Amino acid sequence: MKTANKTDKAADKAPKAAAKPKVAFFDFASCEGCQLQITNIGELLLDVLGAVDVVEFREAISEKYDGDYDVVFVEGSIGDHHAEERLKKLRARAKVLIAYGACACTGGINALKNHTTDYKDFVYQKDARMPHLDSAKALPISAAIKVDYAALGCPVNKYEVLQIISHLLHGKEPVVPTWPVCVECKRRETVCRYAEGDHCLGPIARAGCTAPCPADGIPCEACRGLVEHANEAAMEKVLMQRAGFSKQRASSKSRMFAANCRADTVQEGAK
Ligand code: SF4
Ligand code: SF4
Ligand code: SF4
Repeated sequence: MKTANKTDKAADKAPKAAAKPKVAFFDFASCEGCQLQITNIGELLLDVLGAVDVVEFREAISEKYDGDYDVVFVEGSIGDHHAEERLKKLRARAKVLIAYGACACTGGINALKNHTTDYKDFVYQKDARMPHLDSAKALPISAAIKVDYAALGCPVNKYEVLQIISHLLHGKEPVVPTWPVCVECKRRETVCRYAEGDHCLGPIARAGCTAPCPADGIPCEACRGLVEHANEAAMEKVLMQRAGFSKQRASSKSRMFAANCRADTVQEGAK
């Protein structure tokens, strides 16, 4: 008969290490640039991997996982019932689900197609009359499922993603900025694009990126979507008066990353 020796008994009594949260990444209609941001985190990625167990992440590992997930990051917009069904299955297996990047949060740049038809000829050429293109709208994932948190941006800001992961690991609510990009721009003492005779969407764009674009001498394009109650009409007037844009160009400027967010074009289920 086998008897436990002293070492076995000590091992039995030792506290078991807590299992690391199981984290997975999935993509829908997207360029996958937001997933790449994770692989671009550099050395900090080692800290992340020390704290969580990444069980599925097609861009970095080939493993599959068939259990439930603690945290799921979903990149990309949805556009048909196949995507909706797949998304609902992921939601059913995820304790926490995060809309990851502008495409997932608002439809992002994909939502431009909701407001034009000429993209079909550019993109599909001889196949531009495929019937399913007429009904397919680019929608945020919140149009189909409950979303717990959002990591905004095109692409996401990797430090904000780390903040979200860190807050969740410590049982805290992630911080989601509600203020405009101008606040962060002033904080880093960047000369305003308007003072340089340029234009900028910073006054209506949602912050959280630390305003890198004006700091690099280029206008903010509101890639993180719009602040709540954004005064788009006033912004377009400023673009027309100060940047000399036509009404159409001013409107398309503020629509580029925020087509589904604008008060005049909001889509069903889009925030
Ligand atoms: S939000 Fe931008 S970077 Fe991220 S997947 Fe969509 S298009 Fe790509
Ligand atoms: S450069 Fe843009 S973001 Fe910065 S203060 Fe001026 S308008 Fe605001
Ligand atoms: S400054 Fe504007 S365009 Fe640049 S990352 Fe921030 S929200 Fe996006």
